[in-house]
Formats: sequence, C-alpha cells, structure tokens
Amino acid sequence: MSPAAETLVADLKRANVLASVSSLLSWDEQVHLPPASAARRGEQSALLAELHHAAATAPRIGDSLALLEAAGASAPADEQVLRRHARKDYDRLTKLPAEFVREKARLDSEAYHAWAEARAAKDFPKFAPFLQRQLDLAKREAELLGLPDGYDYALDKHDPGMTAARIEALFTELKRDLVPLARRIAGNRQPTKRDALRGFPVEAQREFLRAVTTALGFDYSRGRIDVSLHPFCSGDGHDIRMTTRFDADNPLDSLFSAIHETGHGLYEQGLPREWIGTPLGEAVGMGIHESQSRLWENQVARSTAFWQHWEPKFRAAFAPRLDGVSFDELLRTVNEVAPTLIRVDADEVTYNLHIVLRFELERRLFRGDLAVADVPAAWNALSQELLGLTPAHDGEGCLQDIHWSGGAFGYFPSYCLGNMIAAQLWYTVLAALPGLEADFAAGRYGRLLGWLRTQIHERGRRLETEELVRAVTGEGISPRHLVRYLGERYGG
Ligand code: ZN
Repeated sequence: MSPAAETLVADLKRANVLASVSSLLSWDEQVHLPPASAARRGEQSALLAELHHAAATAPRIGDSLALLEAAGASAPADEQVLRRHARKDYDRLTKLPAEFVREKARLDSEAYHAWAEARAAKDFPKFAPFLQRQLDLAKREAELLGLPDGYDYALDKHDPGMTAARIEALFTELKRDLVPLARRIAGNRQPTKRDALRGFPVEAQREFLRAVTTALGFDYSRGRIDVSLHPFCSGDGHDIRMTTRFDADNPLDSLFSAIHETGHGLYEQGLPREWIGTPLGEAVGMGIHESQSRLWENQVARSTAFWQHWEPKFRAAFAPRLDGVSFDELLRTVNEVAPTLIRVDADEVTYNLHIVLRFELERRLFRGDLAVADVPAAWNALSQELLGLTPAHDGEGCLQDIHWSGGAFGYFPSYCLGNMIAAQLWYTVLAALPGLEADFAAGRYGRLLGWLRTQIHERGRRLETEELVRAVTGEGISPRHLVRYLGERYGG
C-alpha cells in the first residue's frame, strides 16, 4: 500500500474509533441509561460528535485523497476502492456549509416533536410544514454537493449505485406479481395458534434465543444481546451490540427479532476485521445488510427444516405450554400472514407492499408531482390499491413512521431491496450447496455461513449493491425470486 493510502487508512480508522464510542453511548442510552441522566448523555454525545466530525474532516484526509487521485487508475484495486468511497464520505462531510448543518439539526429536532404530536392527534396538517422543510433541505443538500437529482442522491446514501429509475423498474414488476399473490395467500389463510402461546417465562425465552443465535454462528465473545424498546444491532466486528424485547405472551416476537439482528451481527462479524473503519471492512449499504438479516430470519428460521430441529427443544423449554399445539400448527403460527395497516407489524408477504407505497410517494414528492398537503389522500388511495385496506385516520396512515420527520428519504426502499436480494441469494445458495436444508434439520448452519462469508461479507464495500448481487448470483437484482419464494412458502 502506498504511503498516502496508509495515512488515509490510519486517519479513517481513528475517526471510526470515535464513531464507535458514540455508537456505544447510544446503545447504552437505549439499554441502560438512568432516566434522570439524559442531559449528561446529551453533552457527552454532542462532544463526541464534534470530535468525530473534526477527525473525519481533517485536512490531511483531503491531502491523502488528492495524492491517491493523482495516481489514478494505476493504483492497486483496493486503494481505488478506498479512494472512491472515502472521497464520497469526505465530500458529504466537508462540502455542506456549517449554516446548512445547523439548520438541518434544528429542523430534525423540531420536526420530530411536531411529528409525535401530530401522530398522537391524528392530524397531518400539523406536521405538513415540517415535511415540506425536510423535503426542501434534502433537495438543497444534493444541490450543494453538485448532484442533479435529490432523490437519486437520497437512495444512493443508503444503497450505493441505486437510482429512483432502477428502483421504480424493480418495484413496478414486484407490485404486478405480489399484489395478486398477497390476496391469494390472505384468502387461503388457516387458523393459527397464536393465542395458545401465552405465559412463556422471559428467562427461558432468553436462554432459548441465546442457544439459537449461538448455533447460527454469532460470536458472543465479541458481542452481546440485551433488551431495548425497539430491537437493533449496532457496533462492528470488534464488539456487536444487539437488542431484542420480551413479551411473555408473544415468544415468537423476541425470538425472530433476535434472529433478525443476529443476521446483521453475523455480517458485521464477517467483514475483514483488519479493515474495520475503512471501506474495505464496511458493509455495502442498507439493502445488502437487510438481505443478511432477512435471509436468516425468513428463509432459514421460518423454514420447516429449521423447526424440525428446534421444535422439540422449544416444546421442552416451555413445557407444558405447547401440549395442545401440533408441529404443523406451530409452523403455521410462525408463518402467519395477515394484511395490516401498520408496516412494522406486517408479515413478510405484505411488508413489501408497505415499502412500494412509501417509495411511490417519495418519488412523486421529489419530482414535484405530489404536493405535501395531498400526501394523506395519496397514501390512503395507494393503501387501498396495494393492501386492500384504507386507514381510518392519518395516525395509522401517513403519520405512522418516524423516518420523514428526520428527513430520512430514500431509506424505506432498502428494506424491500433486502427482501428481494435475500430471496435471490437463497436460490443461489440452494443450488451451490446441495442438501443445505438437511443441514438445518440437523441444526447446522456452518456451510451457509461460510458461503455468505466468502460471497458477501469478506468483500467489504468493494462492489456496489447491484454489482455485488450480480457477482454472486450471475444476474442483477430481480423481484422474481422473492415472488417465487413467497409463493412456495405460503402456497399462493
Ligand atoms: Zn434489519
């Protein structure tokens, strides 16, 4: 590695250590912080954010980038990957004027409170001016960076290389096949035993999910799982912090939340550890990240083979609570499909339609085809078209998600991209590793994890989202694998 690349790597890693401390403080805030200590935590986090910003915008990073850029295409491939991503990140941090950054921070805080109040009051007009300002700022941010399209920029932030036109093409095809499939699946619904899964002691749930996630391959010597209101996974391969939540009357929620977060954790633990904090040791983007969590949560842990191994253990851990529930009934409960108005409660079939809805509205808002004031009517019409349900009020419609209050446009599509990519990887790995489902029936996941390690994790950010999918599966992202998988699993 050239001296400029070595200096760049050292500077990026230093900034990343500061970011990791911030992340740890934020984890602690959600898991352990005493209620009256929030103000102190605010000071600590603000100071660290300042130190991180100074480290990540240090002029020496700019100097190293200029030297690497002068070497151009003659530099080794890994140095070019470093240069390309570090340049993008550096420009985002240095090209936005301080006045813009301050305005955005102020708006995020005001808009969050306005959104929370509007949602409680089921009153969209209260939130509308803040949504308008977030939209204006998002467009201005792209302009300041010299990027022609605000929504393309918003999407690229989460999934490098993706554009609105590309996602529109994918979602149009998905919608065409998934809307009728979801209707058929919902129409064939059989009764589940969800009501029988009550009074499951939390301590036993904790032990059970620990056994499952350990078997999947999560390295608890470099990570842990705790409890928070909303499950998440933070940290990096040196130290992963996952969370779940427990409800004695809903043991599947804690288990599947933990498996989902374990999927994220396994990806982070599989990134090349010596490169953590640099683009060679970072995740590609949110869509790929989500493909890892979804693959373990859905393709693996909702399969019959998976439960052939775990069902007797589940039954024994919670005896006699499952005495009246057969294997098939338990499996049906694990795979329950029921359309709902609320995205976060959606099953894996209809979830994608919630995302298509949000993408279509964001696309129209950025294009200027939809006025902010008309969002509720447009939302309700799409909800009826896609899900067959119309919200009774905006609280269960366009005000349900926090994302827009923080100006996090372009974020939702990653969830659906993740589902599409997970299904595409699934059929690829089934062909590559014959007998894989027999492994699951025996409680073994090492071959699957090993394949994901070499195909996805170890590559870091060397390829962009769709390039990586093409490299692994032999074709670009296609919704047809997800439609096939949902049809096979849910009998559409
Ligand atoms: Zn996730």
